[in-house]
Amino acid sequence: MFSNKENFKNEFKQRLIGKTGRQIHEVTEDDIYAALGSMVREQIGQNWAATNRTYLEHGQRQVYYFSMEFLIGRLLGNNLLNLGVLQTVREGLGELGWDLEDIEEQEADAGLGNGGLGRLAACFLDSLASLGYAGHGNGIRYKYGLFEQKIIDGHQVELPDYWLQKGNVWEVRRSDKRVNVRFWGNVEMREVDGKEVFETKNGEDVWAVPYDVPVVGYENSAVNTLRLWSAESAADPTRGFGSPSGNYYNFLDYKRSVETVSEFLYPDDSEYAGKLLRLKQEYFLCSAGVQSILRTFDKLRLPYDRLAEKVAIHINDTHPTLAIPELMRILMDEKEFGWDEAWEIVTSVVSYTNHTILSEALETWPEQMVRELLPRVYMIIEEMNRRFCASLLEEYPGEQDRVSRMAIIADGQVKMAHLAIHGSHSINGVAALHTDILKKREMKDFYELYPERFNNKTNGITHRRWLMHANPSLAEVIEGAIGSDWKTRPDRLNDLLAHADDAVFQDKIRSVKHTNKERLASYIYKKHGVTVDTNSIFDVQVKRLHAYKRQLLNALHIMDLYNRIKDNPTLDLTPRTFIFGAKAAPGYYMAKQIIKLINNIANTVNNDPQTKDLLNVFFLENYSVSLAEKIIPAADVSEQISTAGKEASGTGNMKLMMNGAVTVGTLDGANVEMYESLGDEAMYLFGLRVEEVEKYYREGGYSAQAIYHEDERVKRVLDQLIYPGPFCQYGQSFDPIYHSLLSHNDEYFVLRDFAGYADTQERIGMDYRNSKEWARKSIINIAKSGRFAGDRTINEYATEIWGIKPIFSREGVHGTR
Ligand SMILES: *Cc1c(COP(=O)(O)O)cnc(C)c1O
Repeated sequence: MFSNKENFKNEFKQRLIGKTGRQIHEVTEDDIYAALGSMVREQIGQNWAATNRTYLEHGQRQVYYFSMEFLIGRLLGNNLLNLGVLQTVREGLGELGWDLEDIEEQEADAGLGNGGLGRLAACFLDSLASLGYAGHGNGIRYKYGLFEQKIIDGHQVELPDYWLQKGNVWEVRRSDKRVNVRFWGNVEMREVDGKEVFETKNGEDVWAVPYDVPVVGYENSAVNTLRLWSAESAADPTRGFGSPSGNYYNFLDYKRSVETVSEFLYPDDSEYAGKLLRLKQEYFLCSAGVQSILRTFDKLRLPYDRLAEKVAIHINDTHPTLAIPELMRILMDEKEFGWDEAWEIVTSVVSYTNHTILSEALETWPEQMVRELLPRVYMIIEEMNRRFCASLLEEYPGEQDRVSRMAIIADGQVKMAHLAIHGSHSINGVAALHTDILKKREMKDFYELYPERFNNKTNGITHRRWLMHANPSLAEVIEGAIGSDWKTRPDRLNDLLAHADDAVFQDKIRSVKHTNKERLASYIYKKHGVTVDTNSIFDVQVKRLHAYKRQLLNALHIMDLYNRIKDNPTLDLTPRTFIFGAKAAPGYYMAKQIIKLINNIANTVNNDPQTKDLLNVFFLENYSVSLAEKIIPAADVSEQISTAGKEASGTGNMKLMMNGAVTVGTLDGANVEMYESLGDEAMYLFGLRVEEVEKYYREGGYSAQAIYHEDERVKRVLDQLIYPGPFCQYGQSFDPIYHSLLSHNDEYFVLRDFAGYADTQERIGMDYRNSKEWARKSIINIAKSGRFAGDRTINEYATEIWGIKPIFSREGVHGTR
């Protein structure tokens, strides 16, 4: 089908006409996308079946990555890239008069995640397949992904994201592999041959139906599986509901209520405390996932005490922690294992990644809710807790406090992180600093108990999507300088260092950046009707909106720049275009205020004749994977300015670095490791260090009021938040922001870090003028970004946590057992 351009063109034309029943000049871009998508999907199908067969025959351990979120984005372009046919298809379509990029735009973004955590899962799947590991995803097929954001009069408005409206060419529904998930009911105990046997009766049964999405490895013929579960009613309308006494409408109501389990993604990346439906979703994922894994294992006809030889379950944060008691339940209630043997199996199978630093953000569920919704699972958790606390008392005689702190059930809450740590053989943080904080502070008790379980795996991103696909002109220039080894060995990007001082290469890098800026500028023109100066610095902050990420610090600094220009219209500033992209959780009031503030600032500075040539601000609506792919290649400056100690790792920082943006950042998350590689010559550091932040929290001594009174610039911008400041169009006043900084003493140290940030930005503005020196910094960033490729991260997980080796490689399949 794709062997050469002519074959492709012929085959494609035929299919297009066959599929649409239209003449070739009548087809729409939608038709073209659908026809091309199904053609690619078919091509993948061949290797998909072969991969599954190979894994089964090979017999090596397979990894299942459980995650409530997979922020996949679009697949067409990446699948073409990984299949090695991107060029053929682009040229072939071109000769037929179509632009592949426009066709790619027809695909709905699969937005089954909120932000970093979900995107990490998607990057990991790409690396697993591309490195030839037997590693699959297990998630939920939400009918509605993360909401679509519109900005109306500067406010965020949320619209439902019905991403499946036009169908999904990549997925395959596997009704034959559906499993039953049971909620509610009551547990009955019987004695069989002197053993207690438990069974849940009168529960509500929900079918979990898998939709499989192929995950294509890069030019290695491996195709792994992302299995997404959809909830369907298991009740048979001909029995009960459909009987003469039953009621057809009752059945439809029931069916609808059951199917809400996979209806939508919770649009908040930390806050769903007490939401019954969310707990249902988590158990649904875990139970369906575990059952399906065991079915696959059954094909091997091995005893279950060898499960861990063949299966590894990895849980992405605590959301899928119920996999632990669920596997215990099945081993004990259905496979007749005793507690100790079952426990041994479970803890050898499961490993866990922690993503949360703050203990108050750790996931807990009301004990009563778990007991009622999942009665048998609750019994098992309770027994785990009983045994765990008893063993702790033995380990730490007399230390009742410590035992209470570490208990799995305490104060009427089930503590998911404690369950996850106790039930896993490995617990990892996602950046060196984060892991350090876990060991020394947040999980100190557990680290003392299980030091050998804790380890670090610094996050990484797939350079295939974020460099090769999102920034093809940069990829081409890199290839021209160092060849193509880096495509399968991203650490080889390091070879670019030899070209950092090469004036010709610097010119090429500069010119690629400029082209990407023009592309983004034309997108902005389409959206906002404003012409952007592509010689200005493109200063980018794109990520979820959160107080700790401090978009507010960025915004206050722009207000200050505005003031300085107004005071001195001939001020010698390098022109800047500030670009924001950020969704706020729908119920997060302060975050939404900050979005409104940024849009008001944009309105003021973009329209003031004195400032608009020096200062532009754009808030690009609906930040998503596909928007990220447009913005990131065009960035000069990457804003990574979270309060030190708050960002577990960050991955946006890595994407921007890999695309040659220079970071202005705090020593937080993976920025710390970036700085280790880059130093002051290629990165701009500012702000409080973690120890200083902690000291303030511990000992007090920080006064936002004092800074307000001492720093005139700070005082002025804060006062401008209040009506009738220059950013208070339509009578809008930002009192809540003002008070969060002054009355509530600025929890995230925005004012404390303001002066340092403004000075650093001043330096950036000046340094940018030396275009040779700036290109050099940019090249160093690209060169050192290989360390943050997902391939490096996944190789570490594979060897240090899962104990697996690659099965596929570009040369073929590695030897079987
Ligand atoms: C990478 C990514 C994120 C994470 O960005 P951070 O800066 O690490 O918070 C969030 N959303 C999308 C769409 C992404 O691609």
